[in-house]
Amino acid sequence: MSINILLGPPGSGKGTQAKRLVAKFPLTHLSTGDILRDAVSKETALGLAVKALMAEGKLVDDDTVNGLVFARLQDETQGVLFDGYPRTIHQAEALQQFMSSKGLSLGSVVLVEVPREVLEARVVGRRVCTGCGEIYHLATKPPKQDGVCDLCGSPLKHRSDDTAEAFRKRMDEFDSTFLPLLGFYQRQPGFHAVNGDQDPNSVFEQLQTLFQENA
Ligand SMILES: [Zn+2]
Repeated sequence: MSINILLGPPGSGKGTQAKRLVAKFPLTHLSTGDILRDAVSKETALGLAVKALMAEGKLVDDDTVNGLVFARLQDETQGVLFDGYPRTIHQAEALQQFMSSKGLSLGSVVLVEVPREVLEARVVGRRVCTGCGEIYHLATKPPKQDGVCDLCGSPLKHRSDDTAEAFRKRMDEFDSTFLPLLGFYQRQPGFHAVNGDQDPNSVFEQLQTLFQENA
């Protein structure tokens, strides 16, 4: 069984690509969110601990996330594709240890790379309808009439989360955790990067080639 990992910043499209990859290759898609929700709904001991943390609005700590992931891996018979895990270098190191103890090997680790200014433009140009929630983009999906929803005629809004300032603050926080994690995987033999700043079909083509080589 091989362990494969997709890495990338929020907005890189890696979640969508992960779904397409598992439809094509014999891999199970494992995202941390799904694993956490699954444990909570099955009310396992760790699941109950997660539920309590979430109810208090706290982040689920690395050891708990690792415990849930490793329990899931015990049940897997085919390879897995992680999306959003490992999130920290501590999680990555623990995963590495778990894998060597079980004789599991690392397959492909692929970074979906998108330049910071492209991610920023995607976020900052976003406008949301205050009526029906439809999402527009000033450059790629503008409304027919400025500031007005095509579907329901309500005014469009620039959310405070979508300002350049909010975006940069979020990305700085993300980088402080992500860059050490990326450094860890860049030293692994199965590491590759693909250009995520092109149409999703071309990104998928490149990913497919990498996963075929490593399969
Ligand atoms: Zn609307």
